[in-house]
Amino acid sequence: MKILSKWIYLIGIASTFSCSQPDPIVGTSEITKWPEDKKGAISVTYDDGIINQFTIAKPIMDSLNLPATFYIITGKVPGSGKGKFIGRDPQEIISETREFKTDSSNFFERASLIAFTGTTEAEDYHARVGSLFESGRVEDAYELLDEGYEKLRNGKMVNTGEVVFHNNVEDTTTWEQYKSYAAQGHEIASHTVTHPRLAVLDEVNMLYELEQSKADLKKFIGEESIFSAEGPYGTENERVMEYAYEIYPTLRNRMPETWLEEINRGSDAVPGESKKEYVQWQRGILTRHSFEDMKSWIDTTLNHDNIWLVLVIHGVENLGWEPKTKKQLEEYFSFMKSKENELWIDTFRDVTKYIQARQNTQVISKLENDKITITLDSELDPFVYSIPLTIKTYIPENWKKVKSGDEKNLEIMEEESVRYVLFPMALGQSTTIISE
Ligand SMILES: [Zn+2]
Repeated sequence: MKILSKWIYLIGIASTFSCSQPDPIVGTSEITKWPEDKKGAISVTYDDGIINQFTIAKPIMDSLNLPATFYIITGKVPGSGKGKFIGRDPQEIISETREFKTDSSNFFERASLIAFTGTTEAEDYHARVGSLFESGRVEDAYELLDEGYEKLRNGKMVNTGEVVFHNNVEDTTTWEQYKSYAAQGHEIASHTVTHPRLAVLDEVNMLYELEQSKADLKKFIGEESIFSAEGPYGTENERVMEYAYEIYPTLRNRMPETWLEEINRGSDAVPGESKKEYVQWQRGILTRHSFEDMKSWIDTTLNHDNIWLVLVIHGVENLGWEPKTKKQLEEYFSFMKSKENELWIDTFRDVTKYIQARQNTQVISKLENDKITITLDSELDPFVYSIPLTIKTYIPENWKKVKSGDEKNLEIMEEESVRYVLFPMALGQSTTIISE
């Protein structure tokens, strides 16, 4: 019982030095911070469903057996619900702008409609109006919108009622292909129907963008595709978050968890200071980032135990925004792969599920002579949170050989004279490990 007595001793000094952590008690268990007791996690995510992501980047990741998350614009995929303006007669709205300037009473309706009038220029007005609004320049947003509507009224922009997608680059992937990518272990998820500035859409149009893309993903791929989503332009708008969290369990944009610190793509903050249990560190991979820059993010993740590095990629090989070449991606993903023993590389969805499950589950562990029974107690749905959790159970010193409930031999690990075993367990399960 050397470990136990050492622990009692440590309680004594822990009361004096509050930073001292007592050694774990024999027979107790915990869920490791990351699967297989790794040091951190990485999710590689792609936005906008650009064709080169699937024809160039994905094959590199497949050859290394690395899963990715693709946030796709569902309205571009044949067979799905199309982008459209929902509301009053567009002509009526356009002519009203002659009489009434834009203000808070008509802003969302007008900002919604202009996105669906059918020209790249009008779509750009919508995007710029949204950008101004989200940066707090509300009056400037109204003014810019009035300028756009003046062009629509005098025919300098024509209302064709069609959808012009933002950043309109080629995307010819079919649902059949997306389904096969999901079956390979990739996450295919929503980036809305048409890639609008959700923060300036009125309620009905915002809900359509979120709900229709969810309905299509569910229909053509399945439940695993509707767990996470990303609102375009990385929006963190409060109103958007409220609506979106009613529809999707999690968003890459922002997560509400108090135990998670988020460093978004625009922030220069470096993880390391945070005392929170987890840090989600988003980095957008841009053309100007060198291999050394990108490598340093992985090195930083390795030097801590609480970082989840979330990479965001857009363009690939001269197609799309801020593209990276095939060669650059090959070099980077190979480096990432070489760290897989220490870092968990998985989809945004599965990393979210693991950390949420860990934070919302109690491990009950009972030592009786030569066996320890472990039960997981959680309110979460075991069908949704199906990802196995890694359990770390501290074993007595005289246990020389340990078997799990399914008769597998478990390797006995030792860290500063504390002995333990690691094994996977899913929510809703109970298991017994036995000393032989
Ligand atoms: Zn996007």
